[in-house]
Amino acid sequence: MIVRLHAPMAGWALDLGQVSDPVFADRMMGEGFAIDPLDGVIRAPCDATVIAVAPTRHSVTLKLANGADLLIHVGLETVALAGDGFTARVSDGEPVVLGQVLLEVDLDPVAARAKSLVTPITVTSEGFAVTVHGTDTRVQAGAPLAEVAPLATSEGTTDLGEDTARCTIRVPLPSGIHARPAARIVAALKPFAAEMTLSAHGKTANARSIVALLSAGIRHGDEIEIAGRGPDARAATAAIAALIEQGMGEEAHQSPAPVAAPAADGLIHGVRAAPGLAIGRVFQFRASDIAVTEQGNGPAAESAALAAARGRLLAIAEDSTGPGADIAAAHHTLIDDPELLSAARHLIAEGKSAAFAWRSAIHSHAEAIRATGDRLLIERIADLKDIERQMIALLVGADTAMPLPPPGAILITDELLPSHFAPIAAAQVAGICTAFGGPTAHAAILAASAGIPMLVAAGPGVLDLPDGEDVVLDADRAVLDPAPRTAAREAAAARLIHLRDRNAADASAARQDCVMADGTRIEIFANLAASTEAAPAVSLGAEGCGLLRTEFLFHDRMSAPDEDEQCAAYAAVAAGLAGRPLIVRTLDIGGDKPVAYLPFPHEENPALGARGIRFSLSNPGLLDTQFRAILRGVPAPQCRIMLPMVVDAGELAAARTILDQARASLGIETPVPLGVMIETPAAALLATSLARDADFLSIGSNDLTQYALAADRGNPAVAAMVDALHPAVLHLIARAAEGARTHARWLGVCGGIASDPAAALILIGLGVTELSATPAAIPALKAAVRALDMPACRALAARALSAATAAEVRALLEGTE
Ligand code: PEP
Ligand code: MG
Repeated sequence: MIVRLHAPMAGWALDLGQVSDPVFADRMMGEGFAIDPLDGVIRAPCDATVIAVAPTRHSVTLKLANGADLLIHVGLETVALAGDGFTARVSDGEPVVLGQVLLEVDLDPVAARAKSLVTPITVTSEGFAVTVHGTDTRVQAGAPLAEVAPLATSEGTTDLGEDTARCTIRVPLPSGIHARPAARIVAALKPFAAEMTLSAHGKTANARSIVALLSAGIRHGDEIEIAGRGPDARAATAAIAALIEQGMGEEAHQSPAPVAAPAADGLIHGVRAAPGLAIGRVFQFRASDIAVTEQGNGPAAESAALAAARGRLLAIAEDSTGPGADIAAAHHTLIDDPELLSAARHLIAEGKSAAFAWRSAIHSHAEAIRATGDRLLIERIADLKDIERQMIALLVGADTAMPLPPPGAILITDELLPSHFAPIAAAQVAGICTAFGGPTAHAAILAASAGIPMLVAAGPGVLDLPDGEDVVLDADRAVLDPAPRTAAREAAAARLIHLRDRNAADASAARQDCVMADGTRIEIFANLAASTEAAPAVSLGAEGCGLLRTEFLFHDRMSAPDEDEQCAAYAAVAAGLAGRPLIVRTLDIGGDKPVAYLPFPHEENPALGARGIRFSLSNPGLLDTQFRAILRGVPAPQCRIMLPMVVDAGELAAARTILDQARASLGIETPVPLGVMIETPAAALLATSLARDADFLSIGSNDLTQYALAADRGNPAVAAMVDALHPAVLHLIARAAEGARTHARWLGVCGGIASDPAAALILIGLGVTELSATPAAIPALKAAVRALDMPACRALAARALSAATAAEVRALLEGTE
């Protein structure tokens, strides 16, 4: 039986970890939550029986209907007040009902004398799971806050009269359930109370533990069983099944594919993790082990030390922004992992030091992951090692700073930990080469976004290269030349100069408007997915934002952002663009982008289901809130709105009605430009009627390609087919251009192909006048477009339309280089 707990008083709900007493913060008194009270009347959080009121009346213990014991401990160290300021309204053995007054506390005098008024409420008996909803928020007395459920018996019997659910799915994620998907599964389960497990090849993992999920070694194509038990087991099981089946957006995070290394004597071969070329001197980078003592200073002191160090690391991870934020979020979840913590706490209870316990817990989990034999999962061990190192450094007060390389060095190390990356990048290394690791390791993702060439898995031999030796690191060709001959060095230097000159020239001209050689103006905009990205995009040359993916506001949280929060976020993007146009795309969730707290039914085929504008139109309240937030947040001269996944003018008309109502409710008279994305073959074919009613069209080439070619954009088995330059897709773009021309509307492209300078030739030739690209691609894209002239683009586009395959189109482009 599950018992729901309600707030016993009004106040600020806190996670137990925030209680400044390790006995509670480290759950030695059990799991639960705490409240910083705003009133002194303490009420029963559910129907129960009073087991004991403390003689000093500062705490009361209740027996719940499912047998669990619940402690309400008013304030910290309040026993010392010997009952002053506390009045008991119940006595031992008395049955109480939800909301009945248990104690009354004179808050002011107690606050003046006690360490704190923060009141932990914990389940002290073994064998129960406590699920807490929504801490760090203000609560009223009686607000539902948590559930207490008996744990399954060892036989796994389900005699609790509650929901159970299970389903079996195949894992489509290209890299299986590695750290990022595991972190997202854990986050997606937060709104649910059910106990959840994932089982594959005979192993069952707690789905709320990232470490347990990693240790299960779930790979691409594995059949897994998702099982839930608890009041919302069905919904939680369906949400996780949908999340995994829809690919979790994993294709967007893939590092560049390893390229085959050329066979050449004397070269060290590795795997390209970040492209580029570097010449420099070897700098061997070694992380020394931090010594820890095994014996602790007693469980209370060691628990307190662990809690404090965890608190600091969690705060560091939360503050992280930029390209490292995703990785920090994965680390955050690892630091908070229930299984890691319970393994460490177990050792601390046996008398070990916190540092020793943490290291042992990490090592045994790392071994479990290694035992899976899965190369991609094994790459994630670097993340575990990283949080081991950071935590131990805090616990023993060690200085983890390592000698930094001089600018221009080629840094060589066994494996690069993500936390090492920032100082290394700041030291301006020219390139990085690791003996181990893989191209999808987090440090590799950071190197790619910082533009530092990186080679991984080059073998232990690289660790013997002497410091100061001149080498050439050619990540594009996946080789390191440890002793380049003069000719090879000169050739590399010439190529490097050429690349640098080109990049510098592209960057210096990037802030100017983009005009083709024949004088045709092409707008180059940026795709954005966070308010912090806007200003950096402008400095890379973005002339506006052609696609704001508003999903960023809706992910990784427990409820939808309200109008004010959305309004502030859109206003921040607009401010970052400093007056430039901002095209806000309405929420495009569903399909490969589910959100756990919104009402998505389980769909057999979500890519063809209730996604994009279909979802918004069936949730008009949500769309109205978003329209109002956009209209309020984005200054009118900058504001344009765009609808995703439109099929025909009926959807556009329905959305326009809601937009007009939102405008009227805000007293805004001037209509705001409303455009549609062309991402379905239907929309491309009906572009003329859409263009009649829309203010602009923008091709979502990622989806248009997957729907035109019937090739799932998230399925690695058909990844090579998903080419937006396929002539079938080009015909649809040509049709959209014709529709746009008929009604004198502009046509843009905001899918991935817009970032490809070579493809610009064809897209512009087909009639596209705006390209919205990833910010980093903008300088090179602008340079390429400036060199084009319209007659040549049109001629090439015509030839591309007559091609039979994507390969033929690509061959045409090669002929133009
Ligand atoms: C597209 O489909 O090309 C597009 C830009 O939208 P998204 O990638 O967000 O689905
Ligand atoms: Mg799309």
